[in-house]
Amino acid sequence: MKRLEQFSQEIKQCVLCGTCKSVCPTFSVINRETASARGKVALCSAFLKGEIGLSERFTKHINECVLCGACEESCPNDVHVPDIILAARREIFKNNKVDFTRTAVSKLLGSEKIGNTVIKIASKVQNIFFKRVPEESGLHRRFPLPFINEKRLVPKLAEKFFLESVDQRSESVALGFIPNEGPLPIKGNATSPKIGFFAGCLINYIYPHIGEASLKVIEKAGASVIVPLDQSCCGMPAIGVGDIEAAKKLALKNLEAFERYELDYITTACATCGHGLKRRFKDLLGNEYPERINAFSNKVRDITELLVNELGQGGYPSGNPSEGWVGMGGGKSEIASPLIKSVARNDITPNSLVTYHDPCHLSRGQGIKDEPRKLIEMSGHKFKEMNHPCRCCGLGGSFNITNYELSMEINREKAEDIKNTGADIAATACPGCIMQIKDGLHKIGTKTKVMHVVELL
Ligand code: SF4
Ligand code: SF4
Repeated sequence: MKRLEQFSQEIKQCVLCGTCKSVCPTFSVINRETASARGKVALCSAFLKGEIGLSERFTKHINECVLCGACEESCPNDVHVPDIILAARREIFKNNKVDFTRTAVSKLLGSEKIGNTVIKIASKVQNIFFKRVPEESGLHRRFPLPFINEKRLVPKLAEKFFLESVDQRSESVALGFIPNEGPLPIKGNATSPKIGFFAGCLINYIYPHIGEASLKVIEKAGASVIVPLDQSCCGMPAIGVGDIEAAKKLALKNLEAFERYELDYITTACATCGHGLKRRFKDLLGNEYPERINAFSNKVRDITELLVNELGQGGYPSGNPSEGWVGMGGGKSEIASPLIKSVARNDITPNSLVTYHDPCHLSRGQGIKDEPRKLIEMSGHKFKEMNHPCRCCGLGGSFNITNYELSMEINREKAEDIKNTGADIAATACPGCIMQIKDGLHKIGTKTKVMHVVELL
């Protein structure tokens, strides 16, 4: 990834027009120049010129960003503000100026053994420290706890993590994905597209049912799916705090985990992980392993993108309808039924009114907007667009932990927007957004269910 000094030319491209200010969610709440995208670019410029140092205030301002990418999208001069902010955070990390909470979250998720053990223990004792909030699938703390705001709706940790629950499936299917090991023993057939599923931390530790729904839907769409068990965190939390060395190690580990299998596609149901696997892996390892990283990243598809564009669901013609693929091809009526019949959740009423929130890392990070909407349409529910579907939910990774009040202030507009649609269900395609939106809706007393698009299928 580029260092801050490598952005000096790009920073000079900023003409201080302020277009980015009007779309910046942190500026809209704080209303201070340093909270805006333009302000942060100016701070980085001053730092590079030696006019200011890595002070606590500099760090605070640089961390007041949810990395939503709205500034980058609106900038007429092609200034990649989030990349500049990440490079500044790298500088901050290098000089040991990162606050403890941000580093702790990144280290916990990045260290497989310690992270798994700590989160497993937490899942066993969470009922002691947290009480269940009636009618909501979340928890509130019972007494003061470090890093946990008293108003926060905390998601319940899974008793059995996703990567534990798919053990048998992976063991039995794995052989079919390794070159020269013979045909697929169970799922699909020799010509089924082979998909590797990347879970990510939130699906693994908190929402394993989203992972399960994803596997079922992929198989219903006629593909074979495997979950490499030695996969790790995607590294986005480490990138967010500027710990590039840790992110590189995680990227390499994931690369090796998926390279063991002969895969047509690698998919994930997490928008942030998808952005990381497609784009940030290239930034991290593209220079060292260009061919391997290109081969890997070019196979990555968000699950909605995979289902619609590659497996022909949602009424789009398939891009590569090889002989033997099951349940694929163009024509909505022909292909819609297999997935619709797989509805298993008993808390989804048929003909519900659904609205959709665009995760920043999917809509802006990957340019995917139509595909999730196609799938919602295909699910048979009614759909109503909210006023600002692409507005950030305010999560911003560990930003939500270190700047909780600000994060929820950004979220308030999103929650109101959802409420105003009158929707029964707010669907999205990112487990992080699900967590954040649930908290926001709970705060304004709205009972709208929040779920991943694949759960509707
Ligand atoms: S990425 Fe989003 S929050 Fe950060 S400066 Fe840009 S618009 Fe503002
Ligand atoms: S929109 Fe671009 S050029 Fe204008 S102030 Fe923001 S970063 Fe600078």
